[in-house]
Amino acid sequence: MRDCPRVHADASIPAGPAPSPREVLPRPILRDYYDALFSAHGPQHWWPGRTPFEKIVGAILTQNISWSNVEPCIENLRQQGLLTPRAMELVHPSRLARLIRSSGYFRQKARKLKAFVHFLRTEYQGSLARMFRAPTAVLRRQLLGVYGIGPETADSILLYAAEHPVFVVDAYTRRILERHDLAEARHSYEEIRRLFESSLPADPALYNEFHALIVQTGKRHCRPREPRCSECALRSLLPERLAAAK
Ligand code: SF4
Repeated sequence: MRDCPRVHADASIPAGPAPSPREVLPRPILRDYYDALFSAHGPQHWWPGRTPFEKIVGAILTQNISWSNVEPCIENLRQQGLLTPRAMELVHPSRLARLIRSSGYFRQKARKLKAFVHFLRTEYQGSLARMFRAPTAVLRRQLLGVYGIGPETADSILLYAAEHPVFVVDAYTRRILERHDLAEARHSYEEIRRLFESSLPADPALYNEFHALIVQTGKRHCRPREPRCSECALRSLLPERLAAAK
């Protein structure tokens, strides 16, 4: 299996101001990526979580750790009846931390969960339904102001729990785009998010599925060191000069 040539081409990117990804990306192309991935893998049925609150808890717990480490925490919280905003606000922080130990950085994450439910009560009277009705830009800005919620977590909450049309950008998204010459390392999270949102219809179901398919591709094929391009549904969309080298 050969390496993807793009992996080794990064050093040749000339210095200078990075063009916005939109400047280098014809609008329809991301739809081609989605179509190729969906044809190959079908629906992914994301995000794991029985309720919107469970999805929010999962989005916080999965920061910097794989989902398999989060599942036991969710199960512990469920068994203890703590998967409601009210119960989570009342539980003692050290007990909460013990129950989510396998998620790593568990004391910090317990504090983050507490911060979120405190925010929910003070801003939205503890009602997720009320919070979800807030305009997307307002809610995004508020979430980014909560301790421990960065852009990827905020957008996961907006998309998967609240069903707002916000595209979630993660390391897999960035890696695939960079390897296909659609973005560069210097492009920010916000630039890449806007690239997707300006190239696709504002459809939460589409964003949900597309992100899940990207994660699947990142795990199975577009690995950090040895991408399996020959088995990947996106192989035909590699830039010509790179595909020709394979
Ligand atoms: S997305 Fe697929 S084809 Fe593209 S670089 Fe990664 S493994 Fe190769």
